[in-house]
Amino acid sequence: MNTSNKKLDAELKLHNLKIDVWDEYNLNKTVPWVNDILAELIKTQKDNVDTTYQQGEEENISLSLNFLRKNTPSFKDHLMTDGRIVATYNAACIKCLAPTPIQIDMEFKSLHLNSSLRDLPEYAEIDEIFTENAQRELYFYSKGTLPLREMLQEYLFMGIVPFPIHDENCLGLCAVCGINLNHETCKH
Ligand SMILES: [Zn+2]
Ligand SMILES: [Zn+2]
Repeated sequence: MNTSNKKLDAELKLHNLKIDVWDEYNLNKTVPWVNDILAELIKTQKDNVDTTYQQGEEENISLSLNFLRKNTPSFKDHLMTDGRIVATYNAACIKCLAPTPIQIDMEFKSLHLNSSLRDLPEYAEIDEIFTENAQRELYFYSKGTLPLREMLQEYLFMGIVPFPIHDENCLGLCAVCGINLNHETCKH
């Protein structure tokens, strides 16, 4: 089955998923809310380096999401997600501002429980639970809705390269006259 055409909303309604069946989705930037995540990432990087660069064709994001909804006596109606986010984009080299290709490749496993369980003492001190063959980060959903876009954005931003360098031997810009020392020399 071609899973890339299956639609998925930025806010996931639990009742749209069948119980006890893994459900797979593959999404890329042709989905508007997925492209918004990429745009947000690029904007953040741009602000960080205080320069501008063009958003090109090579900038991309792909999501692979596998959901399993279950209903058990201990966890009630809950959702597990196995996900992978791959994003490629250009950041600016922190030394010379040259476009620097970055790839973020994040995998995550999460567990969403109903927010009515949030105040139970067993969940008070933990942020991970081992279930369905994996250690999963614990979240809570309310009103049957999981803020998917928000979660994906958080995971993606964890993978940001804080100080991109276009080449480990980058000479940067001259602090006095600002010329690019990778291409030119000056008397400073
Ligand atoms: Zn550089
Ligand atoms: Zn100089």
